[in-house]
Amino acid sequence: MKIGIPRALLFHEYAPLWTTFFEELGAQVIISENTNKKILNEGVQNTVDDACLPVKLFHGHVLNLKDKVDYIFIPRIMSLFKGEHICPKFCGLPEMIKNSIKDLPEIINTEINFIKSKDNLNETIYEIGKYFSTDFNTISRAYDIAYLKFEEYKKNMLNNIPNKNNKKIMLMGHTYNLYDTYVNMNTINKINLNEIDVLTPQMIDDIYINEYAKKYKGKIFWTFARKLIGTTLYLIENKIVNGIIYVSSFGCGIDSVVADTIERYIKRESDIPFMLLTLDEHTGEGGLNTRIEAFIDMIKWRDKNESNVPTHG
Ligand code: SF4
Repeated sequence: MKIGIPRALLFHEYAPLWTTFFEELGAQVIISENTNKKILNEGVQNTVDDACLPVKLFHGHVLNLKDKVDYIFIPRIMSLFKGEHICPKFCGLPEMIKNSIKDLPEIINTEINFIKSKDNLNETIYEIGKYFSTDFNTISRAYDIAYLKFEEYKKNMLNNIPNKNNKKIMLMGHTYNLYDTYVNMNTINKINLNEIDVLTPQMIDDIYINEYAKKYKGKIFWTFARKLIGTTLYLIENKIVNGIIYVSSFGCGIDSVVADTIERYIKRESDIPFMLLTLDEHTGEGGLNTRIEAFIDMIKWRDKNESNVPTHG
């Protein structure tokens, strides 16, 4: 049995969990290719106009898998953590895909909803695993192995903190914007070429993120917002980066609120330079390069001339 996983959206965060789980159940996991021009164009053509770029790309990745697999994994994600919501686009994703793309293989669209608690975790993994095994113990064992792999992956990300002596920029945003190098035109590499290291929120321990998120004077409803606001407050207090670049998707309502909140916090509580990069399918590489170079120049100038240069690009 072949199961396809689109290399898009939360794949960039949960890949080790999902792939290991299905492989442990004996499935052959096929992951869509790295994003390329064809995937982007087909995604754009097969999605409603007002969708955000990551959702358009998801469509392109589903098309890339369409004729290669028996199933495609598109869970209906309602909530990943107790008391927290996720972007509504994730809740309607299976329907959106079915409406936009015809003749698809069967979609595994199990609901993942931990808003009240994780008490229904066993049920959820059984619902997903039953396509490949009817034995609950086999499914449960596969999940335990997958979860260990996922924990190991997260731990390795923490140990990935680059060279202590280099300057550092924190790249903030959804994992699918930070780690899809086609979409962000390899922003991490562009920064690294200037001998500046890049951190991402995945390199900050959840323990700190959660602890600092609690200091935020307001209610946080979204998982994504908790992670980024917690990361920001941690960075402000611990002064471990020389600049923050927020990579956002055009048309993302959540980004517009969270990026604005973060920017205001940074301006009020610190002198860390901040820049917002908004991406869509029309973003040109030349313009992106110019903005990144200008931001890096400003950080280097600040180092030499202290506070004579404004911090917010
Ligand atoms: S959070 Fe924003 S970028 Fe992500 S799926 Fe929702 S609207 Fe799109």
